[in-house]
Amino acid sequence: MPDPVITRFAPSPTGFLHIGGARTALFSWLYARHAGGKMLLRIEDTDRERSTDAAIAAILDGLSWLGLDWDGDVIYQFQRATRHREVAESLLASGHAYYCYTTPDELNEMRAKARAEGRPPRYDGRWRNRPASEAPAGVKPVIRLEAPLDGETVLDDKVQGRVAWANKDLDDLVLLRSDGTPTYMLAVVVDDHDMGVTHIIRGDDHLTNAARQMQIYQALGWHIPVMAHIPLIHGADGAKLSKRHGALGVDAYRAMGYLPEALRNYLVRLGWSQGDKEFFTTAEMIEAFDLAHVGRSPARFDFVKLESMNGHYIRAIRDADLVAALDAALTHLPNGTVARQKLDDAMRAKLLAAMPGLKERAKTLIELLDGANFLFADRPLVLDAKALGILDAGGRTHIAALIPRLTALAEWKAASTEAAVRDYATEIKIKLGDAAQPLRAALTGRATSPGIFDVLEVLGREESLARLQDQAS
Ligand code: GLU
Repeated sequence: MPDPVITRFAPSPTGFLHIGGARTALFSWLYARHAGGKMLLRIEDTDRERSTDAAIAAILDGLSWLGLDWDGDVIYQFQRATRHREVAESLLASGHAYYCYTTPDELNEMRAKARAEGRPPRYDGRWRNRPASEAPAGVKPVIRLEAPLDGETVLDDKVQGRVAWANKDLDDLVLLRSDGTPTYMLAVVVDDHDMGVTHIIRGDDHLTNAARQMQIYQALGWHIPVMAHIPLIHGADGAKLSKRHGALGVDAYRAMGYLPEALRNYLVRLGWSQGDKEFFTTAEMIEAFDLAHVGRSPARFDFVKLESMNGHYIRAIRDADLVAALDAALTHLPNGTVARQKLDDAMRAKLLAAMPGLKERAKTLIELLDGANFLFADRPLVLDAKALGILDAGGRTHIAALIPRLTALAEWKAASTEAAVRDYATEIKIKLGDAAQPLRAALTGRATSPGIFDVLEVLGREESLARLQDQAS
């Protein structure tokens, strides 16, 4: 039996969960779930200056929001520094690494010389075979890998294909700094090995690191995991996705009112495809995902498409689930404050009743909430300019005439209020809209809303009549 698949997501906690990182996590998660394996989570917090607890919390929160879970405990790279040091020392002992006493001044000189000669700056290996007895006094050494001088380091990448580096172009990298702390390159290799990672799926900005890491694996005699370097996400203009294209953090997408299911569906299609199929349930994604269909050219982030996909999800989700999604999102939405204060069980019931009309016109939860504004509004309503215009242009007369007719209704349903308003319009020979628009203005404070008879039903007799009374004169 082949080894069980183990993937990992290994973010550096220096900010939010980047949208590109979220996609990397999604691909790693899907690959593992597809294979019935595991996805592990490793926080690469060795850069003590830049790593923060807030960033760790944001990453865990972002992953959970997207529905991406991980197996076992979170692994913190910094806590494994002793193990990293031991491995560096084992490489010294096995003759695959050496102490290097080159001073910072010497390194600068080396770089300047390389630049002057038009060569890329590289460490020249001067301490490779030099005995420690020649070590200058007072210089603390680093440990460097004794990398192969000839031949090639070849990666059979599952996305990029065969990638080869001439070993002469790769210098002896530092494994352990002079203060005894491991370098990132060493830590990643040791952790992936110890965690039993079988498949490394990550952004192709790590492709050159892969060559370095392979050399470390080889020196240690360790099995090299399968690697898949996925192209980074680009903006619509083809440049690498950056702040000027729009939001980069997953939390920002949440605050913009995207549903996690929609963002996840959008992200899975960003660089991976299965024919023209656009919409995937979680089960379908897990079933279909493979590395063979990850493209080699960068996918372009298309905000319009994301929005339209989100609109699709909003319309497709069951009303009760949508109320729950809205409820869960309220603390994150910029227009969520009022709803947060007012969303009790009675209001939730109204929201649920209004959902069929609301969800038709919303592409984000912000828009959905905005449409539901009338439910939360206090009397007397603040009317917008268009609503005011409708009422001022004769609308109040219709409202005054409609109040007794509506009051007389035995049953308060969309159909009964509609019949009453229709009768009125027919009698005085106006179009239905001429009576409906003033009602809309008075009941919602706006010139657009879900179907007005549904609004009447959702608001209920008492609240509706009171709102109409507020605007009748
Ligand atoms: N910590 C690295 C990053 O956030 C990822 C390292 C890796 O996947 O090997 O870019």
